[in-house]
Amino acid sequence: MPSLKIIPLGGTGEIGKNCTVVETEKDIIIVDCGISFPHEEHYGVDIVIPDFTYILENRDKVRGVVITHAHEDHVGALAYLLREFNLPLYCTPLTQAMVAMKLEERARNVEVNFQRMTPGEKFKLGEMEIEPIRITHSIPETNAIAFHTDEGIVLFTADFKFDRTPVDKLTTDEDRLKELGEDGVLLLLCDSTNVEREGWSPSESEVGPSLKKLFHQAEGRVLVTQFSSNIHRMQQICDAAKATGRKVSIAGRRMEMTFNMCRRLGYINVDREDTIPIDDAHKLPNNKVVFIVTGSQGEPKAALSQMSRREYSRLKVRKGDTIIYSARPIPGNEGPIWRTVNNLIRQGANVITDHETPVHTSGHAYEEEVKHMIALTKPFYVAPVHGEPRHQKAMTDLLVKGGHESHRIFVLENGQTLNIDEESAWVVDEVPFGEVFIDQNNHSPINENVLRQRHTLAHDGVCVITLVIDKQTGEMLGRPRADIRGMNATPKDIEDVLDDLCTILTRYQPAELKSSDHMATEIVEATGKLLWRSTKQRPIVIPIIELV
Ligand SMILES: [Zn+2]
Ligand SMILES: [Zn+2]
Repeated sequence: MPSLKIIPLGGTGEIGKNCTVVETEKDIIIVDCGISFPHEEHYGVDIVIPDFTYILENRDKVRGVVITHAHEDHVGALAYLLREFNLPLYCTPLTQAMVAMKLEERARNVEVNFQRMTPGEKFKLGEMEIEPIRITHSIPETNAIAFHTDEGIVLFTADFKFDRTPVDKLTTDEDRLKELGEDGVLLLLCDSTNVEREGWSPSESEVGPSLKKLFHQAEGRVLVTQFSSNIHRMQQICDAAKATGRKVSIAGRRMEMTFNMCRRLGYINVDREDTIPIDDAHKLPNNKVVFIVTGSQGEPKAALSQMSRREYSRLKVRKGDTIIYSARPIPGNEGPIWRTVNNLIRQGANVITDHETPVHTSGHAYEEEVKHMIALTKPFYVAPVHGEPRHQKAMTDLLVKGGHESHRIFVLENGQTLNIDEESAWVVDEVPFGEVFIDQNNHSPINENVLRQRHTLAHDGVCVITLVIDKQTGEMLGRPRADIRGMNATPKDIEDVLDDLCTILTRYQPAELKSSDHMATEIVEATGKLLWRSTKQRPIVIPIIELV
């Protein structure tokens, strides 16, 4: 029996829905509980969350969730876990405020038990001692998490970069990471998202001067789109706006909520007279205003996307506007982003997605920063996480090149268990895992069958076959009828199918024709085959048998 288990329920072999179980004989602690976004073929799906079956099956052992930071891919699924059962959430003040804001939308009636966590201060959860360690990322108050277990130290880097000049001056606690390395880190779970990028990521504070330069050069209005959680970016936009004589206005509900909350709590410092409500901003001369807008990822309902479709009544693109994309596309979002950009250009905007000086920078460590993390913490085992297989492979290659023995590197997939005892570590597949799709309208899970049906409906449409049967004699009255929607078929195709279906149905005895359940299955099968033969489509077939 292994004494320590690490089980990623999400976040390995993918970027998104980070959620990892740390389990000893008596306790389970969950690190993060995030969402990912659906693919285009997941019709009507808003978000994707991890499968919580394993957590729910072991709920008596669960002591709480330790949250590394407030990004959606780390906290977005908490609402759905808390709906199942209540458990304490350990986090810092900003993370708490942001999680509370999200829970207000997704789990309004759930009572939340927040527990304060402070970097550098250890606390006990069950029999494990937990230590948050300050680390830099693209949102303030990000913490690496060290678990002090009987087997040794398990260290989650969380999402990190080594930003030596962060906007809030709170640098990574490298001294503590080094000390842990000297004490002996048993296992390091390391962010691998940007390991393929050479060198060292630019500091967040390098973005401010570029923005200021662009604000200065722009003759018209400036709009900057960014992630609403990038608080330091918002601060730098406010500073650059002040320095160039512009007022700041916010467009987009999520951005406005985050901005106001951060200002209230002191995470953003901007004087009231330096901001202006969006509905008053049009009164200012064009060169006196900067808008911070939602929509950097092409999200269809976000302000910038609506503007690109001329559907956002509160703010319209003007010829000569400068629109700065201060965010990198999340892989998979490129299509909607470029569609938005093209539409903005059509309306006369000057769109800046890249620049010789950075208008955005990543929050994830580049190759040299990953190497630095390894050098500081000197882990015995390493598991590259927060990455797709290509990122995990790139980190493995980097480690091996640096002399790390390959049998001490574990490339995990969701649902796999990394077992560790005093002697060794090994991986087994043993827990249920998967993707749970959440409906965009009612915020509840969609079962896979419904999703499959939506897929079929979108591709091949639907065909309703109506059969009228004399309930006395069991004879078919007239010809079957076909109503199609979303199928690419001519009336002749359908008539041919009905002819053949009639021929097939004449083979059945009247007693069989009266048995609706049996006939329904037969009709679906026969019609499906005939439609495929004549139209090369596989619509959903719905049989209706009327006994008259
Ligand atoms: Zn993340
Ligand atoms: Zn993050």
